[in-house]
Amino acid sequence: MRRKLLVGNWKMNKLVSEAKEFALASRDLAKKAKENNIDLGVCPTYLSLQTVKENASKDMIVGAQNVHFKESGAFTGEISIPMLKELGIDWSLVGHSERRTYDNETDEKCNLKIKALLQNQMVPLYCVGETLNEFEAGQTKEVVGRQVRVGLKELAAEDVKDIVIAYEPVWSIGTGKNASTEIAQDICKFIRDVLREMFGDVADGIRVLYGGSVKPENVKAYLSCPDVDGALVGGASLKIDSYEALLNNIL
Ligand code: PEP
Repeated sequence: MRRKLLVGNWKMNKLVSEAKEFALASRDLAKKAKENNIDLGVCPTYLSLQTVKENASKDMIVGAQNVHFKESGAFTGEISIPMLKELGIDWSLVGHSERRTYDNETDEKCNLKIKALLQNQMVPLYCVGETLNEFEAGQTKEVVGRQVRVGLKELAAEDVKDIVIAYEPVWSIGTGKNASTEIAQDICKFIRDVLREMFGDVADGIRVLYGGSVKPENVKAYLSCPDVDGALVGGASLKIDSYEALLNNIL
C-alpha cells in the first residue's frame, strides 16, 4: 500500500520570515495528515530550510529544491548533501523542469545527484515530463521513458525503493493548463511499467506523483487515479489556506 504524498514546491518565493509563519501555521496540518496516512512536505528555498525544519511539525517532510552531487569543493553557489544533512534535511527535488530549462540540468546530471542522495540515505524526488512541443509531437512516453531510464541508471532495486518520481508535463507547470486525469494516470502507469522493467516488483512500492497546475479543486480527481500516489504542487502550495484545502480535499 503506497502512502499518499502531497509536496509543495515553493520555488524562489517567501522570505525567511514568511516561511517561518507558514511552518508554524502548518503544524496542525501535518498532524491531521499523519492521522490520515498522508505524508505532507514542502521544499523551501535553501535560505529557509533551517527555519522551516525547526518550526514545522517533525512529521512535515522538508526538502531542498536542488543539491550538488559532490561533497564539497570549488562549485560556487552550490550546496552539498552534507550541508543539508547537518540541518536534518533528507529529501531533495532533482530535475525540476525549471532547473532543466534554466540551469542545464540534464538526465545525466540528475543521475549523479540521485546516486549521491541515495548513497547518503536521502530521498530524491525526481521530476520528469515533456515539453509542449514534445507533447504535441506525441513523444511523451519516449521523453519520460528516457528521463526515467537515464536518471535511474546503474542503480539496483534495493537502492530505489524509497525514491519518489513526479510526472510534471512542462506545459502544465504554472500555466493553469492541466493534464487531464486520463493523461496523468496513463503516464504515471507508464512510469511504473518502466520502473518494473528496470527494478522488478519494487516498482509497486515506488510513489509516482502528478504535478502541474494542481489546485484544491482538482487534487482529488488526480489522487483518485490508481497510479497517481500524490501531487507536487507549486503555486497552490504557497498560501497556508490553499495548502490546507489541498490536504482537506484528499482526506
Ligand atoms: C511545480 O513547481 O512543480 C509545479 C507543479 O508548479 P504549479 O503547481 O504552479 O504548476
